[in-house]
Amino acid sequence: MKLSTFKVLDKKYSKFPTSKDIQDTDDFKKYQDALLNDKKCIDWTLKRQIKSAGLNPDKYCCLDMAYHLIEDKKTKRKTKINYDSIMLTTKRKEFGIPIHDGGTSFIKINYCPWCGHKLYKSTTR
Ligand SMILES: [Zn+2]
Repeated sequence: MKLSTFKVLDKKYSKFPTSKDIQDTDDFKKYQDALLNDKKCIDWTLKRQIKSAGLNPDKYCCLDMAYHLIEDKKTKRKTKINYDSIMLTTKRKEFGIPIHDGGTSFIKINYCPWCGHKLYKSTTR
């Protein structure tokens, strides 16, 4: 699907709830297929969500990392634990998997779990 076509369909179909009548249309099925299988449409959707959360997708190794930091960004505005957060970044540009035990501990990671990019120079190995 052309990205321009996808954007038009996205405006129409990205608002929930969608009725059964809409879900049964060919356009909706093509939109759903592109949303799940067409890389350029998926990337466009991720970028839009990342930017709308106030993150710059170009600052991270890949869109998946940036996308999974959206919940971390939301967490920093709250004091309670955000159980939806599965990845975090620190002011020291460390990346890690949060441990949801009530504290601020996390498991530091050296490589992006989605693209394999080395995240920073490891001091331990
Ligand atoms: Zn990555």
